[in-house]
Amino acid sequence: MSIKRILVTGGAGFLGSHLCDRLCAQGHDVICIDNFFTSQKSNVEHLLPRRNFELIRHDVTHPLWLEVDEIYNLACPAAPGHYQYNPIKTMKTSVMGAINVLGMAKRCNAKVLQASTSEVYGDPDIHPQPESYRGNVNPIGPRACYDEGKRAAETLFFDYHRSNNTNIRVIRIFNTYGPRMHPFDGRVVSNFIRQALANEDITIFGDGSQSRSFCYVDDLIEGMIRMMNGPDDFVGPVNLGNEHEFTIRELAEEAIRQCDSKSKLVFRDLPADDPKQRQPDITLARAKLGWEPTVPLAEGMAKTIEWFSSINLGDYRAPTPNY
Ligand code: NAD
Ligand code: UDP
Repeated sequence: MSIKRILVTGGAGFLGSHLCDRLCAQGHDVICIDNFFTSQKSNVEHLLPRRNFELIRHDVTHPLWLEVDEIYNLACPAAPGHYQYNPIKTMKTSVMGAINVLGMAKRCNAKVLQASTSEVYGDPDIHPQPESYRGNVNPIGPRACYDEGKRAAETLFFDYHRSNNTNIRVIRIFNTYGPRMHPFDGRVVSNFIRQALANEDITIFGDGSQSRSFCYVDDLIEGMIRMMNGPDDFVGPVNLGNEHEFTIRELAEEAIRQCDSKSKLVFRDLPADDPKQRQPDITLARAKLGWEPTVPLAEGMAKTIEWFSSINLGDYRAPTPNY
């Protein structure tokens, strides 16, 4: 395998840091850029001594001049509480970030992968969602800064591909969890594990009958790398996620069981535009990439709980007001 110079934007985040781990272990020359809005340097601290890893503090809304062979564009707050903190900045990050990495890809003749999201389907009215489904997104709701930003980024990727022959890949990631999720990101897996470990009330929004399908991080990263290295005539978009669907109540019960917790379930109002159901159709990923998730929820939860038990929550902070 040839050694490549690879840029990972948002490389200090949850998914980005696992991706940097894998790419460094494969021997590639990895440049990680991040503004640390939703991440900690500790996520990539272990990589700093490596000769094939470089960390740059940078905001993707500003241009960056680098020479690379491949770009994984992951920079963007992903948890609802994080992306709604400064919604205008979220939209700028998706759109201006896409323009900046696409410009770099065009100049360097690099391959560029966009980490898009199942949120482009909004609150879906077909189930499970194939890539051909065009979505049910509220353009003026509180989730729109993220959903519409990601949709616009996909548009930019495909227009660069059509207009400039830029070598693109677009993946649509469904709910992914694992070690290094921000413990205060407000996402359901991190909330429930943190609450169960502390024997605190587990906050179920709505009645807990809404469902999600949860993909363990190692499976997701495998799919992402396969997509980048797949044939040039398969640019996506491709769904990456786990097909097994659980209700939010079932997830809470699993967290309580695995943590041997005394937590009680408490019910809170459902946030606006909260999708009722979300499950990927991964037929395309299976056919084109030979990919499917291998880690069941119980096993992935156990690894995630082990990590949450090992961290000091005081080391993690919420997004900063000067972002
Ligand atoms: P994360 O918040 O842990 O990682 C995002 C990273 O991007 C963070 O390190 C953050 O500091 C950085 N960042 C944010 N704005 C930036 C900016 N303007 N300039 C530079 N860096 C910036 O979230 P994650 O779960 O690792 O998500 C990574 C990517 O995958 C995101 O693009 C997200 O939309 C996408 N995604 C994730 C999931 C999931 O379930 N985890 C699902 C769908 C899509
Ligand atoms: N949720 C919940 N309790 C929490 C956090 C989230 O019941 O403490 C619910 C949330 O309303 C949603 C689901 O869990 O229905 C997944 O939420 P998350 O924010 O993790 O991701 P997304 O809505 O983007 O799929």
